[in-house]
Amino acid sequence: MNVVAPLTVYDPDELERVSADLLAPIVRKIDDERIYPEDIMRAYGAAGAYGTHLAGPQGGTDLTTAILAMARASEECLSTGFCVWCQDTLGWYIASSDNDYLKTEILPKVARGQALGGTGMSNPMKAMGEIEPMRLKGERVEGGYRVKGLLPWVSNLVDDGYFGTMFHVEVPGSDTPKRVMAIIHAGWDGIKLKLDHEFVAMGGTATCNVQFRDVFVPDNFLLGDPAPAFIRRIRPGFTLLQCGMAAGIIKNCLELMKQVEGPLGHVNKYLEKQPADIEAAYDALVADVLEMAKTPYDESDAFYLRVLKARLAGGELAVEAAHWAQLHCGARGYVTHGAAQRRLREAYFVAIVTPATKHLRKMIAELEGTA
Ligand SMILES: Cc1cc2nc3c(=O)[nH]c(=O)nc-3n(C[C@H](O)[C@H](O)[C@H](O)COP(=O)(O)OP(=O)(O)OC[C@H]3O[C@@H](n4cnc5c(N)ncnc54)[C@H](O)[C@@H]3O)c2cc1C
Repeated sequence: MNVVAPLTVYDPDELERVSADLLAPIVRKIDDERIYPEDIMRAYGAAGAYGTHLAGPQGGTDLTTAILAMARASEECLSTGFCVWCQDTLGWYIASSDNDYLKTEILPKVARGQALGGTGMSNPMKAMGEIEPMRLKGERVEGGYRVKGLLPWVSNLVDDGYFGTMFHVEVPGSDTPKRVMAIIHAGWDGIKLKLDHEFVAMGGTATCNVQFRDVFVPDNFLLGDPAPAFIRRIRPGFTLLQCGMAAGIIKNCLELMKQVEGPLGHVNKYLEKQPADIEAAYDALVADVLEMAKTPYDESDAFYLRVLKARLAGGELAVEAAHWAQLHCGARGYVTHGAAQRRLREAYFVAIVTPATKHLRKMIAELEGTA
């Protein structure tokens, strides 16, 4: 196996320090005031958290550390955990591509958190699943493509950030447009960002509407042209990484339930689900995810089906764990500063972010031939 030298040095003690000493004290502030924790995102980068999964298809890539680091952030705050996923996914796209320019010029900065960004693939994924029309349209011009349209949500996005997305290009004489995937720089001419914070949770995610007005996308920013083979390569890792968010929030919900065993255990024991029940499902999920994390470039349908099922279980267990955490914590979790109500609002995000529960069930039905 050709193992590629890592772009960063991972420091687990520093990851723990950033999570416990910097992030934990401000999680309410992030939630209440919708503050994007940019310093923390950069500190995770300095700790090497975004650089452990970028060895590429031939480099012996393992997603374990990336998933566990994302879980640690999500244990404290899902806004931050999701931003970690966005950053990891941006790096995942570039590292998985054959684009040497992006790998040399952009990837090291992404791996270290010096360049921030994410992914605008919800709409393209839903378009590929025939759930909604593709919002970005491109046309071939000298040296690249000219792209227009609007992406409603791209998170972890700052003015000089980057994100991966896809656009359609009409093919003369064909009803089927070509799909092209590329990295976009938020500072390019014709790109306009507008922060969108109208959510019940996840307000600390720097989520933007991104408008494209005849944006020139140069050839050296392309990831897949045409995109289908590249999509097949990246989709298991893209989806599996999201399980880090689920694992982190479930672990914290278990902790919240255990914290009230002393004062409320005498009555909480009558609740239908106990921490041990959730913990057994959590342990099984994490074991399955971390086993798959070792082979993220397995392109078989059987592997992708297993990934989709784990991702579905993660979203459903996150919502279930947060529901039981709220019932176990009672009123102390229901006050404005209560962790349980925040976790409940955040947990639904795991179940609705693309691929959402309904989208996952559609893809699973299609792969199993029951659609
Ligand atoms: C906090 C947050 C951050 C996100 N970050 C990203 C990101 O970084 N990258 C990314 O690609 N996607 C992002 N998304 C989008 C997300 O991944 C999902 O696409 C989204 O949650 C909806 O998915 P769904 O499959 O449930 O679609 P549905 O909600 O079932 O359908 C979505 C459709 O509903 C329409 N719609 C949206 N809002 C309204 C409304 N208020 N009224 C009527 N129609 C509406 C949309 O145009 C869209 O066509 C983010 C969403 C949220 C809430």
